[in-house]
Amino acid sequence: MGERFVYTRHRTTCYHCGQEADQIIKAVRPQAQVICANCGATRIFIPRTSEVGKKGLYTRIGCYDLWELTTDALCRNCGVAGHHELAIGCNHFTVRCSNCGFTHFYKFNLEYIGKCPIDMEESP
Ligand SMILES: [Zn+2]
Ligand SMILES: [Zn+2]
Repeated sequence: MGERFVYTRHRTTCYHCGQEADQIIKAVRPQAQVICANCGATRIFIPRTSEVGKKGLYTRIGCYDLWELTTDALCRNCGVAGHHELAIGCNHFTVRCSNCGFTHFYKFNLEYIGKCPIDMEESP
């Protein structure tokens, strides 16, 4: 718990403040978050399932652009630290290991603006 799994950022137009700003993307085992660096709009995703799956298995049409990103992370299935594919939409957040295909699927849980106590323990 609390172990950092994914930490990256994606510069895009924020759905909340409408500014072009870094959206900070981070995930640990029990939770994934996307936070606007400009306005603090935060979306929380909670784990739903994880399994070895095909690419695009959980990709669905969202209510706005799907972000498809890549980042380096340590896979807990195959133990390789390497390329992971992120797919973030309005209802889901998936992280897939490019090496073994192990996919973490997080489901949208809630959103809020500003700091939340949950965020404190995950901060560097
Ligand atoms: Zn914003
Ligand atoms: Zn793997």
